[in-house]
Amino acid sequence: MARKIGSRYTAHQILGRGSAGTVWLGEGPEGPVAIKLLREDLASDQELVGRFVQERTALLGLDHPRVVGVRDLVVDGTDLALVMDLVRGTDLRTRLDRERRLAPEAAVAIAADVADGLAAAHAAGVVHRDVKPENILLDMEGPLGPGGAHPALLTDFGVAKLIDTPRRTRATKIIGTPDYLAPEIVEGLPPRAAVDIYALATVLYELLAGFTPFGGGHPGAVLRRHVTETVVPLPGIPEELWQLLVQCLAKAPASRLRASELSARLRDQLPLLAGMPPLDVDEPGAEEEETEYPAYPAYDEPQPVTPDEPHRRGVVPLVRGSAPDSSRDTHTSMRVPAPDELAGGARGTARAPRAAGERRPGSARHKSDAVRRRRLVLGGAAVLVAAAIGVGGWLAATGEGADQAPQDSEQSSPAQP
Ligand code: ADP
Ligand code: MG
Repeated sequence: MARKIGSRYTAHQILGRGSAGTVWLGEGPEGPVAIKLLREDLASDQELVGRFVQERTALLGLDHPRVVGVRDLVVDGTDLALVMDLVRGTDLRTRLDRERRLAPEAAVAIAADVADGLAAAHAAGVVHRDVKPENILLDMEGPLGPGGAHPALLTDFGVAKLIDTPRRTRATKIIGTPDYLAPEIVEGLPPRAAVDIYALATVLYELLAGFTPFGGGHPGAVLRRHVTETVVPLPGIPEELWQLLVQCLAKAPASRLRASELSARLRDQLPLLAGMPPLDVDEPGAEEEETEYPAYPAYDEPQPVTPDEPHRRGVVPLVRGSAPDSSRDTHTSMRVPAPDELAGGARGTARAPRAAGERRPGSARHKSDAVRRRRLVLGGAAVLVAAAIGVGGWLAATGEGADQAPQDSEQSSPAQP
């Protein structure tokens, strides 16, 4: 079934569905394109349409081989569509779900590609704000790079900013994963280029480990970990690569590398990583609820792997009794929780048993020590911390903070300070 989009494009077939709408394989005057048709409720929002039109130049101006180009914005009747370069392949989340962990060489090659895309964007004063595996597309028609990795392209530039309005996040009942949110966002600072570096380092860690450094469990707990916890080392990771990750996951934005430097440093590592198998990291999903812990966690403790069991995310409902949310969206669709929900939910995280079979990313068995510490903190200070960081930071990050962020925070901040 073909569908006309504006006067120049025809949508033929659905490629995928996302939180903001449906992506179609389409045809334009210059050949095949991908068309993201925004959800009706977004398209009928006059304010959002206005901002789309305002952002047209910034969105269309980003032209880089590692960025999925936006070719056109169509506002036509009830349709609001983004016409993009067509990438024939898959997104990184799909690959990660299939393989769980990538060989370091391929993981680093993909991260370096994304860093290149970010460098171009940051140089143009554009902050992505939603770097995550779902927004990294792998071009299966492109030449194979190091580690057999297909070229990676970053997509959805500017979309987070356009859709992330206080009004909308409050109205949306979705709580997604805050796994990739930089600590300064949690603390309510406007997102600068360094938030993308933090998110990309989180993605790289996830590609290597099979889980994100601070993810899992209650969203409030994840937010708190971003601010307070240090990243747990990955067994077997080459020291230089580890140092890069640590630097880019620094709590202080100014301590992180710039995108161009990150890309160069990552590419420097590639020869050393050639032929290295995926890291042998213990499976996430150690029972956080267990009462017995080994005195010292064993890094090499063998873990059964069931390859066909889907990798479950540990996103839990904020309001007890509601269904867990499977969405992978980040701050673009988070509802700001009421203080009592946050406080109650945080307490619930420390105690409430997990649904049968639900895994808890980020809490590999070897991390049980950290988990124990984490639980102590949660048990003791969850209410206070969640109230202080969660309510304050989250409100600021998704609500008033984003609102008050200077208009130029995305468009004119010249990369990092
Ligand atoms: P959202 O950001 O709204 O959640 P996505 O950007 O993730 O939506 O798009 C949904 C699906 O469409 C994804 O699975 C992705 O693989 C596919 N897709 C998105 N953009 C393109 C593109 N430019 N070319 C090909 N496929 C795409
Ligand atoms: Mg997307």
